[in-house]
Amino acid sequence: MHKLAIHIKKLDKQLALCKRCGMCHAVCPVFAETGREADVARGKLALLDGLVDEMFTNPEKVFERLNRCLLCGSCEAICPRNVSVLEIFIKARTILVDFMGLSWKKKIVLQGILARPGLFDKKLRWMAATQKIFNKPARENSGTSCARYFSPFLRSRHFVPLANPPFHSIQPYLNSPPKKSGIKAAFFTGCLIDKIFPNIARATIESLRYHEVGIFMPKAQGCCGMPAIAAGDRKTFNQLVKYNIELFSEQNFDYLLTACATCTFAIKKIWPMMFSGDSGIKTKINSLAKKTMDINQFLVSETDIKPSVLQSGDAVSITYHDPCHLKKSLGILDEPRIMIQANPDYSFNEMSEPDRCCGLGGSFNLQYYEISTKIGKRKIENIKASEASVVASGCSACMLQLSAMLSQSGSGIVVKHPVEIYAEFITKNCRK
Ligand code: SF4
Ligand code: SF4
Repeated sequence: MHKLAIHIKKLDKQLALCKRCGMCHAVCPVFAETGREADVARGKLALLDGLVDEMFTNPEKVFERLNRCLLCGSCEAICPRNVSVLEIFIKARTILVDFMGLSWKKKIVLQGILARPGLFDKKLRWMAATQKIFNKPARENSGTSCARYFSPFLRSRHFVPLANPPFHSIQPYLNSPPKKSGIKAAFFTGCLIDKIFPNIARATIESLRYHEVGIFMPKAQGCCGMPAIAAGDRKTFNQLVKYNIELFSEQNFDYLLTACATCTFAIKKIWPMMFSGDSGIKTKINSLAKKTMDINQFLVSETDIKPSVLQSGDAVSITYHDPCHLKKSLGILDEPRIMIQANPDYSFNEMSEPDRCCGLGGSFNLQYYEISTKIGKRKIENIKASEASVVASGCSACMLQLSAMLSQSGSGIVVKHPVEIYAEFITKNCRK
C-alpha cells in the first residue's frame, strides 16, 4: 500500500484544492440517486486522500467507489475551486490498475479485442450478422431490439441493434480535395457511429460535401480509447492513440472532425492528458488536439448555417439533450441548436434540464444498470414533458441511452443527431 500511496501522492496538489464545500452534491446525478457520500466528487477525493495517508488496506474497494461515476463532469463544471475532478479520477483509475492489474474480463475485452481494430471489427461484424438469432425488435417500428430468449445479462433491456453493414463497409476511405470552401477536414468516425449509427456518418459526409469541404477519412480507424482509459487501462489506450495518430498522419488537413461528443472530448482533452510514450507522438497528439472540432461547431463556425426564419406549417416538434462531454467539458451548446433550427421542417422546444446527464456513462451503464436507468428516467420525463416527437443529441453514447429508455417506456419519440436533421434539410431543399 505504501507503493500505491507514493503514486497517488502525485495527485496531491490537485487533491488539496478541494475544500470540501459540498457544492458538487447539488449536481451529481449518481449522488442524487444513491445519497452516498462516496458517490459524489467530494467523497471520492476524500477516499484518494485516505490512500495517500495509507488509511486503507483494500485498493479494490477504493477502485470500485471511483468507478461509481459517470465521468459526466457536472461536479467539475460547478466547482468553485476549479478542481480538475475528471483528470484526478482518470489518473487515479490508471494508478490503481497499474497497482492491482486489470480484471481478466476487461483484459479480454479491452486488450484482447478493442486494442486490435481489425479483430474488433471482425467480431462486431459477426455479431451484427447473427444478432437476429438472439434478438428481436423491441416494438414495431421502434428501431430498438430486445432479447429473443431469456438472457441473464440483457433481461428486459431494450437496445439499438448493430448496423449491418457498418459504415466503413459502405464507405471505407475518402480523400477528396478542398473545393470552394478551401478547407480540408479529416473525419474520425468513432466506433458507435461506424457500427451502430451509420446514418450520422452519412449525414456528416453529405453536409461537408454540400459545403464543399474536402474530406480525408482513413481506412480501418480504431476506437478513440475512451472506454480503455476510463477503465484505467493505460496500455490499450496508448496503443489505440498511437494507431489512430499514425492513420491520420498520412495526410495534411485543417480540422479533425467528429460527430460524437465523447470522441471529440477524448481526442481534444484526454489524448494530450493521458498518452504516455514517444515525444514525437506527443507532439502529433497536441497538434491534432488543437485541430479537433465537433461537427456542429465546425459547420456553424465555418459556414453560413443560421436558424431558419420561416417554418413549415407541419413542422415536427423537436427538443435537444446536451451531452455532458459537449457542454460541460467543451462548452458547446449553441451550435447543435442552430443546426437543428436551420431545418424549417422542425420546430424547436427546449426541454427542462437539457444538460442533465442521461445516465449512460459508457461502461457505467453495464456495471450499474439500475442507477443508470434511474438517472435516465428523469431525462426521459423531461423529454416527454417537452411534447417533442424527436429528441436530438450530439453524442452517440447519449443516443444509445435515450433510444433504449424511450423504447422501454413505450414512447414513440425518435432519437436523432443534429447533423442528421441538418442533412435532411440539404437533401430536401438544397441538393447541388
Ligand atoms: S465542489 Fe469542488 S471544492 Fe467543493 S467539495 Fe466538490 S470538488 Fe471539492
Ligand atoms: S463526474 Fe458526474 S457522476 Fe462523477 S462524481 Fe462528478 S458529477 Fe458525480
